[in-house]
Amino acid sequence: MKFETRAIHIGEEPNFRDGGTGDVAIPIHLSSTFARKEVDKPTAGYEYSRTDNPTRTALQLRLAALENAKYGLAFSSGLGAETAILLSLTKSGDHIVAFDDLYGGTRRLLIQVFQDKFNIESTFVDARDPDEVANAIQPNTKLIWLETPTNPLLKICDIQKISEIAKQNDIIVVVDNTFVSSYFQQPLALGAAISLHSTTKYLNGHCDSVGGAIMLSDDKIHQKLKFMQNAAGFVLSPFDSYLILRGLKTLAIRMRQHEKNALTIARFLQSHPKVLKVFYPGLENHPQYELAKTQMNGFGGMLSFELDGDLQMAKTFVESLHYHAIAESLGGVESLIELPALMTHASIPTDERKRIGLNDGLIRISVGIEDVEDLINDLERGFNRI
Ligand code: PLP
Repeated sequence: MKFETRAIHIGEEPNFRDGGTGDVAIPIHLSSTFARKEVDKPTAGYEYSRTDNPTRTALQLRLAALENAKYGLAFSSGLGAETAILLSLTKSGDHIVAFDDLYGGTRRLLIQVFQDKFNIESTFVDARDPDEVANAIQPNTKLIWLETPTNPLLKICDIQKISEIAKQNDIIVVVDNTFVSSYFQQPLALGAAISLHSTTKYLNGHCDSVGGAIMLSDDKIHQKLKFMQNAAGFVLSPFDSYLILRGLKTLAIRMRQHEKNALTIARFLQSHPKVLKVFYPGLENHPQYELAKTQMNGFGGMLSFELDGDLQMAKTFVESLHYHAIAESLGGVESLIELPALMTHASIPTDERKRIGLNDGLIRISVGIEDVEDLINDLERGFNRI
């Protein structure tokens, strides 16, 4: 079954059995608990909705199918999914090697929660160079934490090479696959053990639900994560599970349009005299264009750029736009624009932002699927104001 078909059908086959009514869209099972006829026989395997809920189960089946994984797990946010991984697979005294250009919230979780409170240290490296990852590995390293492409600088790391290094050292590789979605990148097929998503972004795709997902095939790791999902309790609600199931039905078609619009806008920005630099992996001059082409089936809908000016100019630019909402988050059908240094990545100290190349005037766009000419005219409005 091809991706587009799996994204519509898996987990949501009409039920004609056992009094099923043949619903084409999955019901939202709001029940917090499930009655049984006999004390020791949970009905259809369901006991209590934190442990398992039929709408969430449907979503988890679909999530697994999207990345040809054995298991999918859904959490109450992307950071909730990350917390589940860290609580399940590390303990005090362990060590993590992480890409230095991660989503600000992930970095905050690794440092301010797991390092400062639980003594699980993270070393941040430029994972574009697999040797830097290899050199940072210690005897107590348990996880290699990657995000590719990264948020917001669209840096890319070689999942396959790094996974080989990890296997030699018995280390688990986690790839945050949020930025291009399962449609454009399949980390497990490249050797990673865990693919992670903030479903808040492309998988749901409509800026109306917060959630997180994990896809994986290893039985032992799944057992630990499934235990933690129930034991720590950060599960996705039935309603959010339904919304993501609905959003996933159009993932393929949305991603193709996001990419088409993003490439057109990246080229427009690249040729604009008021723009210094454009970060988009689909541009031939992106330093990792060749790796991007082999590792991903497409380049996605996220891009960043720097104006030839200061922070005030960047603020004036974004505040002049009509169709690009100034907002955090990404991956919805509507275009969003933001200044990472003041918004999504404000939790990263200024010196560290400078070191990784995240300048104060950087502007990030989550390119939506509106008409691209309207979007370009809107950006022209901004250029005319500066
Ligand atoms: N990973 C990436 C790449 C993100 O951009 C985000 C949020 O912006 C997260 C993880 C965290 O997800 P959530 O906001 O759903 O907790």
